[in-house]
Amino acid sequence: MVSFETLDREALSAEVDKLRDQYSQLRARQLDLNLTRGKPAPEQLDLSAELLALPGADYRDGNGLDCRNYGGLDGLPELRAIFGELLKVPTSQLLAGNNSSLEMMHDTIVYQLLHGNVDSARPWSAEPGVKFLCPSPGYDRHFAICEHFGIEMLPVPMRPDGPDMDVVTELVNDPQVKGIWCVPIYSNPTGVTFSEETVRALATMPTGAHDFRIYWDNAYVVHPLTDAEAPVHDILGMAADAGHPNRPLVFASTSKITFAGSGVGFLGSSSENIDWYKKNLGFSSIGPDKLNQLRHLRFFKDAAGVRAHMAKHREILAPKFNAVLDILDSRLSDAKVATWTHPDGGYFINLDVVEGTAKRVVQLAKEAGISLTAAGASFPYGKDPANCNIRLAPSFPALEEIRVAMDGVATCVLLAAAEHFDEQQG
Ligand code: PMP
Repeated sequence: MVSFETLDREALSAEVDKLRDQYSQLRARQLDLNLTRGKPAPEQLDLSAELLALPGADYRDGNGLDCRNYGGLDGLPELRAIFGELLKVPTSQLLAGNNSSLEMMHDTIVYQLLHGNVDSARPWSAEPGVKFLCPSPGYDRHFAICEHFGIEMLPVPMRPDGPDMDVVTELVNDPQVKGIWCVPIYSNPTGVTFSEETVRALATMPTGAHDFRIYWDNAYVVHPLTDAEAPVHDILGMAADAGHPNRPLVFASTSKITFAGSGVGFLGSSSENIDWYKKNLGFSSIGPDKLNQLRHLRFFKDAAGVRAHMAKHREILAPKFNAVLDILDSRLSDAKVATWTHPDGGYFINLDVVEGTAKRVVQLAKEAGISLTAAGASFPYGKDPANCNIRLAPSFPALEEIRVAMDGVATCVLLAAAEHFDEQQG
């Protein structure tokens, strides 16, 4: 196959006919496959089966605390020490909570809308408007929180080393810009890891708002797909040194480490922010699920235990990612109708198809029984201006299902592209 763009009218029509034929055969298979959400596969959940029997009869942590009872908003110190080491956050500044870091992010936004944060002159809801910077493509659930609360989203292009800092530093001069969403390591969905320079720039840049916050969602911090682990940069230290100790809010969880629905979420920040968070949280909680924290502590034992566990995930995930990449390469490279990421970690592959065709590709795939994440989902308000972006999530389906699904997706990408160029010429 040659590049579609070089084909003349006749050759393109022939290509469209051939691909329509291939597509009819695909539809006839009546597939039922799903490449949408980034969920761990059952075999990955099995890696943590031991948790189901923990903590056993011994319900006390190393300090003798009875984990069955109320109390301890901070969470278990020994577990916080393990994740503090992994996240580069001092144990005293890291809270262990319940099963969802997204919930913690959501709650901090609500607290700030209602009361402001420790640096606010007034509640955010009393401001003339609140805006957030949204490096895009990004995580749809971050954007959904903003949309839900009427926070205006300003897209920022993603670069290979993080958000475009020229755009960020310009936009943050606006005092209504109160925050930015960041997934600094193996980003959702681009796989981008922020460079040290980008991290430092975010931590130190001047901002119009004194109560500006960086939502530092390190959801994939220990999720490499290769031997080389991405370095964790000490954003809290960098921000503190620059006189902005309260700027970063660091989040993480074990959702993609142990059980996605029954993990432990973490929040790390300055001591002042942690006290502020606990003061607000104290109205809704008398303490987190410490038995779940205890079982995680017993299971991992230390930070090396977490890393060793992640190596087992990688053995399951890497072949799935490779299968997607192999099929994209063999089916789409020559036609030059798409580009895609080769992530070193995380849960997603980002596929960019011919501009103006992403929705059509997703629709074609749906009609062939292959569910893809809605086109545009990774952009603020679900609107991808170029209509070219598709997020692929290869973790959940079995390897063979991935091969079949991706081969089908490739046919849809080619057909949508051929039709597009054909229409343009017509
Ligand atoms: N942040 C990112 C970037 C994610 O991709 C996900 C899960 N898909 C989450 C947060 C959700 O985390 P949790 O399960 O801790 O709420």
